[in-house]
Amino acid sequence: MSQIIPAQTTLSWQEAMIQAVREPRQLLEYLQLPMELLPAAEAATSHFGLRVPKPFLERIRKGDLNDPLLRQILPLEAELHSADGYSADPLQELGSNPQQGLIHKYRGRALLVVAPHCAVNCRYCFRRHFPYADNNPGRAQWQATLDYLREDDSLQEVIFSGGDPMASGDRQLQWLVEQLCQIPHLQRLRVHTRLPVVIPQRITDDALRWLSGHRLQTVLVIHSNHANELDPAVGDALARLRHAGVTLLNQAVLLRGVNDTLASQKSLSERLFQLGVLPYYLHQLDRVDGAAHFEVSDTEALELHRQMQACMSGYLVPKLAREEPGQPNKTLLY
Ligand SMILES: *Cc1c(COP(=O)(O)O)cnc(C)c1O
Ligand code: SF4
Repeated sequence: MSQIIPAQTTLSWQEAMIQAVREPRQLLEYLQLPMELLPAAEAATSHFGLRVPKPFLERIRKGDLNDPLLRQILPLEAELHSADGYSADPLQELGSNPQQGLIHKYRGRALLVVAPHCAVNCRYCFRRHFPYADNNPGRAQWQATLDYLREDDSLQEVIFSGGDPMASGDRQLQWLVEQLCQIPHLQRLRVHTRLPVVIPQRITDDALRWLSGHRLQTVLVIHSNHANELDPAVGDALARLRHAGVTLLNQAVLLRGVNDTLASQKSLSERLFQLGVLPYYLHQLDRVDGAAHFEVSDTEALELHRQMQACMSGYLVPKLAREEPGQPNKTLLY
């Protein structure tokens, strides 16, 4: 099997997106996992598809069901069970779009759904039931969104989100940033993306051109849950971003069996900082149907966070937070 996986360096990011593994059977074969997992994996992917690009797949240890990267992408039987307090739209975002593709919940900043899809499908994702097809604006809808941003001069910051905004092409992103630069009250561009971690080749020269080199200050928030994700290729991508003057932050989701130990959190924070990234948020899981098996209780989360504070420099400890519908900001747990 392994000879069909080309070396990372020879793959463009677009090829890596297209060639992502989508068949549970192919995933199990490549990672040398038991075929008994196949029926459940296929059942789970009928709700939320499998999608793992090869550069990410190559960081997963073969034959190890407990690999922390594997657990984030492997569809399991457990996803088929519903749990109390879990729903399809836990953040009630479907009701708070003033425009298609725009979510303005917090003061001073508005979030744009720039791309409807992601490079990887994370099994815990709160957007796993999001109707992306209805949130994939064309140019005319972008004009309506830009009008909204222009008319609200309390907005200082625009957040590119998704899906994953960097799943869009650089030409579209360049166009959008040029439009934003013409809105005088906007000061900052923030990009929430997992792509530099999943497919580090995504940080092309063209990407650096719309991320920097204009009047907006750019903050790029990556999404990494475990130090094993942060290999040398990711380190190179982050160095390019840093050298372009982009401020780098990380958000992680606290996940049972992935990063719910002090050792894994400590090595994540230390590795991030080594690569020039400050830990920003550690999120409690959004209670989305199919993700209950990832939950860490608030009591356990708080105890873990207390231990992190007790053994790390303050700037290495992310804020432990949860998003609650109807609140003016993310809610800190402590
Ligand atoms: C998380 C989020 C933000 C950003 O919140 P910060 O606390 O500034 O990081 C903005 N808008 C929406 C809709 C969000 O979910
Ligand atoms: S990259 Fe982010 S939005 Fe996309 S599936 Fe993963 S957690 Fe969800």
